[in-house]
Amino acid sequence: MDTWEIITHLGENREEYHGAMIPPMYQTSNFKFDDLSAMQTALSDEYHYPVYSRGNNPTVKILREKLAALEGAEDALVFNSGCAAISTLLLSQLKAGDHMVCIAKPYGWVKYICDYILKAKGIQCSFVEVLDNDAGVYAYIQASNENTRLWYLESPNTFTFEVTDIAAVALASKERGIITVIDNSYSTPLYQKPLLLGIDFVIHSASKYLAGHSDVVAGVLCGNSESIKEIYQSYYLALGAVISPQDAWLIIRGLRTLPLRLEQSSKSALEILTAIEHHPRIEKIYYPFHHSHPNYEIAKLQMKSCSGLFSIKLKVDNTEAIHRFCDAFKVFSMAVSWGGFESLIFPALAFQVKDETDQNALSWKIVRFYVGFEEVEVLKNDLLQALAVINS
Ligand SMILES: *Cc1c(COP(=O)(O)O)cnc(C)c1O
Repeated sequence: MDTWEIITHLGENREEYHGAMIPPMYQTSNFKFDDLSAMQTALSDEYHYPVYSRGNNPTVKILREKLAALEGAEDALVFNSGCAAISTLLLSQLKAGDHMVCIAKPYGWVKYICDYILKAKGIQCSFVEVLDNDAGVYAYIQASNENTRLWYLESPNTFTFEVTDIAAVALASKERGIITVIDNSYSTPLYQKPLLLGIDFVIHSASKYLAGHSDVVAGVLCGNSESIKEIYQSYYLALGAVISPQDAWLIIRGLRTLPLRLEQSSKSALEILTAIEHHPRIEKIYYPFHHSHPNYEIAKLQMKSCSGLFSIKLKVDNTEAIHRFCDAFKVFSMAVSWGGFESLIFPALAFQVKDETDQNALSWKIVRFYVGFEEVEVLKNDLLQALAVINS
C-alpha cells in the first residue's frame, strides 16, 4: 500500500459514520454490551474488543493501523508521550540482572530512564559512541556481555545527528539473540524504515513531525503482532500511559500532510545550510546529509531523505557571544521540541554548563535549528543577521 493510501484511507470505514470524510472522535471511556455473553467475550480478549479506552478506542485504532502500515510493522501502540512509549517498552523487555547498550547521546530523558529508573531495578546500561568507521557495529558488540538483552539506537540522534549503521547493527544483534530498539522520530517512517532493516521495535515521539502542529504530546511503539500483543496485555494496560481520543484524532489529521510538511522542512533546511556552510562564524555543521558528516555515505544509503533539523557549532570563545546570537533572532523562536509549523532554535547552553574538561559533554557552542514553513529567504536572512550580531 502506498503512503497516500495509508494516510488518506487505511482504517477509515466512512460508511460507518455517514460518509463523513473525517472520522469521529470517540471521546468515551467505556463501551456498552448487549448481553452478558458479549461482555464475557470482550473482557476475555481486550486486545481485539473495545471495553475501556485505556485499552481499545476506535479513533485510536485508526491511528494505530496507519502508523503500523507506514512503518511496515504488523502492529503499533500509541501512548500519551514518546517517553511513555520508551519507558513502557524498556520496562516490558528488561528484568533485574539484564544489561542494555545505548547510543552515547540519546534523547535526554532516555539517559534518565537508564541511569535512574532501570538502574534502581537492577538493570545496567552502557553508552557507546557510534562515529567510528563501522558506524556503531563494533561499539555495540564490544560493550555487550552475556547478560546483554537489548541494544537501544537513535539514528540520527537529535542534537548531534550521529548515524548508526542500522542494518549491520541489527544483523549483529540477531547473531547474539539481542533485542533491538530504535528511536526513529527524526526521520519518521517516510524517510527511514528500520523494521525493514532488521530492527525489532521502533519508537517515535509523535509530538514532533507525526502530529506536526505543536499541539500534541504523544508516542508510538511499532513491532511484530506477537510482541505488541504481549506488551498491550501487560505493561500497556497496567502502566496506562494511554493517548486521549482527541490527541489521536489530531495526529490522524497531522498525518494527512506529513509528506508535504517533511518535504518543505527538508528542502528549506538544505537551502539554509548551503547559504551558511562557509560562514566564518561556523565551526561545524551537524546534519546527516551534509557532505562533512562522518557517516554521510551510510546516511544516504539507509535514509530516503533528511529532515529539517540540524545543529551548528559556533566559532566563539565566550558564552556572551552565544547569548548575543540567540537573542538576535526575529523569526526563529527559541523553544524546545521541533517538527511543527514554526522555525525554532535550541541552544545547548540552555541546559549545558560550560565544561571544557568533559570531552563527552555536548559542547555549549552548539545551537540546534528546526526549519518550519516560513519563507526560506526570510529564515536565511534571520540566521545571517544573527551571525553578524556575534561580532558586535
Ligand atoms: C521529543 C523526543 C522524545 C520524547 O518524546 P515526548 O513525546 O516528548 O515524550 C524522544 N525522542 C526524540 C528523538 C525526541 O525528539
